[in-house]
Amino acid sequence: MKHIVVTGAAGFLGSHLVKSLIHQGHQVTGIDNLSTGVASNLQEVAHSPLFFFHEADVTLPDSLDFLVEQPVDEVYHLASPASPKFYQADSIGTIWVNTRGTYHLLELARVKGAKFLYSSTSEAYGDPEVHPQPESYRGNVNTWGPRACYDEAKRLGEVFCYEYYTKHSVSVKVARIFNTYSSGLRNDDGRVISNFVTQALTGQDITVYGDGSQTRSFCYVDDNIRGLQQLMAEDQANGEIINIGNPTEYSILEVANLVKELTQSDSNLVFLPLPEDDPKVRRPVIDKAREILNWEPEIGLEEGLKLTIDHYRAMLQETS
Ligand code: NAD
Ligand code: UDP
Repeated sequence: MKHIVVTGAAGFLGSHLVKSLIHQGHQVTGIDNLSTGVASNLQEVAHSPLFFFHEADVTLPDSLDFLVEQPVDEVYHLASPASPKFYQADSIGTIWVNTRGTYHLLELARVKGAKFLYSSTSEAYGDPEVHPQPESYRGNVNTWGPRACYDEAKRLGEVFCYEYYTKHSVSVKVARIFNTYSSGLRNDDGRVISNFVTQALTGQDITVYGDGSQTRSFCYVDDNIRGLQQLMAEDQANGEIINIGNPTEYSILEVANLVKELTQSDSNLVFLPLPEDDPKVRRPVIDKAREILNWEPEIGLEEGLKLTIDHYRAMLQETS
């Protein structure tokens, strides 16, 4: 049994990861400031003797002092808003959690001799001029726009990881995560799958931004969580950046139509202005994940959407 620290534990990915680690029999300490995450995401494990929840803001210097006496084997640093709606509302906080926060968690890993995984993002590639995106592509990020607080903070977070790997020999791994979805995303999260599914199930207009020709590649959460754990486990991945995403690409218009079809919804599609700096394409090259981790996604969009729609439908029925 390992003692594993997960930041962002009450968020979408964090809560799925915590549940998976506890089911595997590990002792987990979840840290979260409940800014975008919600305690109910952790309801299933709240009373588990293997789980301890600590409410704290990891950008504060003393936020990890409570761990001083405890051995720690692994640290997953997932804390950070991820939806453009939330990271733009708290842009400075987003910069701090990915820089100062990353520094505090890397220090913890150094002192404890723990392995460390950082949740970076496909946004590190910005609005890519190379398609699809391998890890070697250095990206095209606008530093002077509404997405910069997230994209550049994640890039600097990666730099902290590089320094702790090269200077302090911390077993650091960086996951560049591409769009991941399932239930567990708040209905008001603002990201495309939660918006479209909620809108379709409640008969509201489905809001396509721009003409919907921009593309994304969607990974179901179970595939992502398996990828993160394999990345943590694999020593050959120390000091590596690895894309974790599904390489099947869809236009946003295709996603809207698929959600409409799978929910059998009468909702209309409406076209709203495309947000500034919205990347036009995004698709991961996952050769590195295949070679080093022996990982690839198993759940396609249609299958994943059906599971997601069932969960959202049940959730909406519960609250109505
Ligand atoms: P989320 O918003 O659901 O979860 C993030 C969690 O971090 C929340 O529970 C929030 O309360 C917590 N948090 C934020 N700032 C904090 C702070 N200062 N101290 C402590 N806790 C804090 O987002 P998510 O989708 O679960 O994303 C998790 C991580 O994965 C993020 O780092 C995100 O950038 C990265 N990521 C996610 C995706 C995706 O598609 N879900 C894609 C790329 C990268
Ligand atoms: N999008 C959309 N309608 C919505 C929400 C998002 O058309 O209601 C688009 C958005 O403009 C982007 C894509 O869907 O092109 C993915 O957006 P999301 O916020 O989920 O993640 P991003 O990849 O942009 O960070």
